[in-house]
Formats: sequence, C-alpha cells, structure tokens
Amino acid sequence: MGLISHPMTYVRAQSIQEAIDVLSQLPDVARVLSGGQSLIPLMKLGLAIPEAIVDISGIGELDYVHERHDDMLEIGALARHSRLERDPIVRRRLPLLSKVARLVGDPQVRSLGTLGGSLAHADPAGDYCMLAIMLDGVVLTNEREVPATEFFEGPFTTSLGPGEMVIGVRFPATAYPHAFLKITRLPFDSGVPSVAVQRLGEGWRVGLTNVGHDRARARAVEEALETGATSAAAVSVPWLELQSFPDEVVPASYRMHMAQVLTGRALDEAQGGGR
Ligand SMILES: Cc1cc2nc3c(=O)[nH]c(=O)nc-3n(C[C@H](O)[C@H](O)[C@H](O)COP(=O)(O)OP(=O)(O)OC[C@H]3O[C@@H](n4cnc5c(N)ncnc54)[C@H](O)[C@@H]3O)c2cc1C
Repeated sequence: MGLISHPMTYVRAQSIQEAIDVLSQLPDVARVLSGGQSLIPLMKLGLAIPEAIVDISGIGELDYVHERHDDMLEIGALARHSRLERDPIVRRRLPLLSKVARLVGDPQVRSLGTLGGSLAHADPAGDYCMLAIMLDGVVLTNEREVPATEFFEGPFTTSLGPGEMVIGVRFPATAYPHAFLKITRLPFDSGVPSVAVQRLGEGWRVGLTNVGHDRARARAVEEALETGATSAAAVSVPWLELQSFPDEVVPASYRMHMAQVLTGRALDEAQGGGR
C-alpha cells in the first residue's frame, strides 16, 4: 500500500466543540479521523485525498457506554471495538453487540477502530451498520438524532451534512436470544454476508451485511417467523433482493446461498436448537 504524500492540514481536536468548529470552518475539505482503520487505507490508496483532517481520537467525552432508562443503551462514537467486546454493560444489556465486536477484523482493527467511524464509513460489509438498521438504532450527531434507516443512504453514503459528525448511537437494550454468524476465514471477508438474529419484543429481527444498506434487514424472514414458520421454512421465503446488489468479487448466487445457510443456522442457534 502506498504512502500518504499530499499536503494537508491536521488538527487534533481536544473537545467536541473544537472538532465541530474546525469542520464548520472547512465544510467541504475536512474529514474526521477516528480510528483510521478505514480512512488511512483509503488515503494510502489515493482513494481519499482530504485537504484537512480533524483527529477526534483523543476526545474522551466521546468514549462512553451509558444505560438510558430501562430499555436503551447509548454508546459514544469513540467506543472502540475492543471496548464493545468487553464492556460489562454491553455484555449484560446487549450481548449481541459484544459478540459482533469480538469478530471485527483483527486485534489491531479492534483496538483502534470505533463505532462512530464504522457507522460514518457506511460500508455494506460493516457489522454495526447492519445492527443499527435491524435494531432500529438511532444515530446521534452534533445536530440531530437520526433513525439508522435514514442515516444510511446507500453504500458508503450517509445523510451527514457539512460540519456534522457522529457523536454516538442509541440501541434498544435486550439480552433476549440472539446469535451472530460470520465466515472468519479472512479478517474481513468483505463479500460474504454475516448474519445477526435477535429476539426483540414479540418478534425476531434478522440482519445481514453485504446486501446493501437498504436491505440489511430481512423483513420477509422476520414476517415468516411471526406466522410460526420454522427457521428452515423462514429462510426459504423469497428474499431475493440480494441478487440485485452488485459485487464483482463474490457472485450473487454464492452470497445468497451463504445468507440463507447462515441465517438458518443463526436462528437455530438462537432458538436453542442449533450448533
Ligand atoms: C483489516 C480490516 C478488517 C476489518 N474487519 C471488519 C469487520 O469484520 N467488521 C466491520 O464491521 N468492520 C471491519 N473493518 C472496518 C473497521 O471496523 C473500521 O474500524 C471502521 O470501518 C472505521 O472505523 P474507524 O474508527 O477506524 O474510522 P476512520 O477510518 O477514522 O473513519 C472512517 C470514515 O468515517 C469518517 N468518520 C470517522 N469518525 C467519524 C465521526 N465520529 N463522525 C463523522 N464521520 C466520521 C471518516 O471521515 C472516514 O470517512 C475492518 C477494517 C480493516 C482494516
């Protein structure tokens, strides 16, 4: 991978306000830097050439996990994967999130990469993007609270405006049955779906990565389960929108097959009948 050779302004912000001030002064040219696990590789490849970097990685007030009321968990943008994996509140109140964090990338990615950076990056392979959509998460910015379904506008595209940054995210807290399955042959098998299932209220939520952000929730499978279908029957319903997601590396037919297999297994595991 190449070197970053273009000149740029670098500001290491000490507070949220300072970061926002700089972003507002340089609305079209500044990029936020959190863990750098996605942005730095893009810069090395010359795919991102920001004129200014606002490094927020040292802003302690963005690294938090709070219980909100009885049923919500609010997590700061700078909570790193390694914290989400181990944090006792996350493990108790939303164990699915901790299981997802445990399988993100490799130890370096987990110790540097952040929840807010993952959401802002909006990678169709991003596990937290999927969780935020399937659980009706709410993304908190310095300007507003945005339902995840409106925050993500497409692959690598969000509704963040100039001068706006992710401050945190709110998830429903639930320790009901759940499972998360992904193929971990490579640290980031970016073409193949990972699958999360979570019992929430009376129903099931089913989420997948690598199917496009607007389709990260498999509603057809959820609805089949609601009518009493077994997991095998539920994953057999037509949910073929997957086919329309372009991917030159991994054929759609293989991705669809894996989505079906992994979803069935995840449901079996969560329902107690699985492997
Ligand atoms: C080898 C490897 C394996 C990986 N495996 C996985 C995996 O299995 N699952 C997974 O989900 N992810 C995976 N990732 C991605 C990883 O989770 C990154 O940490 C994440 O995508 C970006 O987080 P970051 O904090 O590093 O953000 P950065 O790289 O710092 O930023 C990413 C983008 O978000 C913007 N940004 C960052 N923070 C904010 C903010 N607070 N507000 C607004 N914009 C912001 C930046 O400007 C940039 O455009 C992997 C990455 C690598 C390199």
